[in-house]
Amino acid sequence: MKKDNSSKPAYCPFIEEAYEECYASTGMSLDTWKILHFCKSNFNECEIYKKLVFSGVKPQTLEKTGSK
Ligand code: SF4
Repeated sequence: MKKDNSSKPAYCPFIEEAYEECYASTGMSLDTWKILHFCKSNFNECEIYKKLVFSGVKPQTLEKTGSK
């Protein structure tokens, strides 16, 4: 079996922080496909992710591990 050496996280680093604007925090079932699509492996395409990163927000999960 080939080992995946990718450094890309499996989930969006913001997913545990429940930002108000995140799809996972809205509680709307219409956003379920967006959670499945963006929050898991395609977070680099998420407009909310881009906005947070552009604003200089750093996920606490990265700060905890000391990743840069
Ligand atoms: S992918 Fe977007 S909506 Fe999902 S947790 Fe990350 S920033 Fe929030």
